[in-house]
Amino acid sequence: MNIIHVSAECYPIAKVGGLADVVGALPKYQNQLGVRSSVIMPFYDNKFTKSNSFTNTYAAKLQLGDTTYNYKILTLDNNTLGFDLFLVDVPELLFKDYVYSFDDTDRFLAFQIAVLDWILQLKEKPTIVHCHDHHTGLIPFMMPHSHDYDKLKDIPTVLTIHNAQYQGWFSHDNVYKIPPFDFDKVGLLDWSHTINPLAAAIKCAWKVTTVSPSYMEELKTAANGLESLLSHESAKCIGILNGIDTNVWNPETDDFIIKTYTEKTIESGRKANKKWLCDEFDLDAEKPLFAFIGRLVGEKGADLLPQIFEEALQKYDISILLLGSGSEDIQNHLRSLEDKYIGNYSAFIGYDEKLSHIIYAGADFLLMPSRVEPCGLNQMYALRYGTVPIVNKIGGLKDTVVDITENGFGICHEEVSVKSVVKAIERAIEFYKDTQNFKKNRKLISQIDHSWNASAKQYITLYESLI
Ligand code: ADP
Repeated sequence: MNIIHVSAECYPIAKVGGLADVVGALPKYQNQLGVRSSVIMPFYDNKFTKSNSFTNTYAAKLQLGDTTYNYKILTLDNNTLGFDLFLVDVPELLFKDYVYSFDDTDRFLAFQIAVLDWILQLKEKPTIVHCHDHHTGLIPFMMPHSHDYDKLKDIPTVLTIHNAQYQGWFSHDNVYKIPPFDFDKVGLLDWSHTINPLAAAIKCAWKVTTVSPSYMEELKTAANGLESLLSHESAKCIGILNGIDTNVWNPETDDFIIKTYTEKTIESGRKANKKWLCDEFDLDAEKPLFAFIGRLVGEKGADLLPQIFEEALQKYDISILLLGSGSEDIQNHLRSLEDKYIGNYSAFIGYDEKLSHIIYAGADFLLMPSRVEPCGLNQMYALRYGTVPIVNKIGGLKDTVVDITENGFGICHEEVSVKSVVKAIERAIEFYKDTQNFKKNRKLISQIDHSWNASAKQYITLYESLI
């Protein structure tokens, strides 16, 4: 079996969020299980592409509407990723220092056309084309319906929805940019009078997966307009929980953290990481340390964080550290609290992979007041490093965190409001004070197996059902 994953992100090449972590790990685990699994993604202008060398394996021209672009398919030299990597280099469109921006329609359309043109000339065709999110959502439509790709029409496609909020909408005025197809099929591209790549993929892919079982269920009632479509297509939909890459996310070997640790040395290891964080951000290491890592957007409940932090800092003697970027408003609000709560609160606005690892290794609690969380990887990283997650009971958070009052190991709240999160913080402080149990819980959560092993097998079973 030969699987090609098509994605806009893949760790460590280009990462914006969890999509990268999944696409950088799943193929590796699939290869270990005896399936040949590779990744094709855009060639961006970033740190990874600047600091590695690549070989040009294929060059051709692609047609995007009236415009012709030259493109190349590159492979990574000295590849130690654990899977074959192919990069689509369309210099005018894809070679940018960002992954997503205002010009995504043309960029990702060109990317998808290049991917299919390249597959078309491969001697050994893939057994399955596995697409991730809306940036690759027109592939399941084009393979059976665009005349150019007639030879690919019998290759099964799988779509994984990592986030249904973003759907890649564009106007019918641009339909001519999609390689020619029988126009009576245009309805497959449409949702609410606009071209909707995610909807097209849900209609056309042979199987659709979401990144957790609970998210699959939730999408039937809240999918940013696609609820009825997902209910209608539910027979081919399945939720498969993401795993984590336990080679990258391993406190025993993690090069990013200040002191590595094992189950036996978890207390001293975490203490050293917490001390570093507190020294660096002017916080008191004796107090329980609450952290947030993530995109500062409404989905993550980030708009409520300033109020949550203010109320918690006024009521309790705790430290809070935030790492994130996103909405300007939220960023400014979070920054403005720093002067008011010197010594108790700090915000690092930006993206910093190393710092995120140290926070997982040193904070006592990780806050995730998400309104939408298709799977969520942060809580699984936190668990692996011995940090207690405090989560809203939704999506993948519901599938991975059990409250301490239900024989579990984390703190759950039932809604996203300032009151309920502050209450959850209060419960966390009580738990922290119960030192013996708190330390016992740390060891226990660090041993929970969230590796990809089980889920990678589930994907393979799904592929097998299609061939
Ligand atoms: P999403 O993909 O919705 O953003 P996930 O929980 O699936 O959320 O994945 C988030 C990933 O991005 C995690 O690896 C997390 O550590 C990382 N991350 C998010 N924001 C930052 C940041 N500001 N700095 C470093 N890593 C971040």
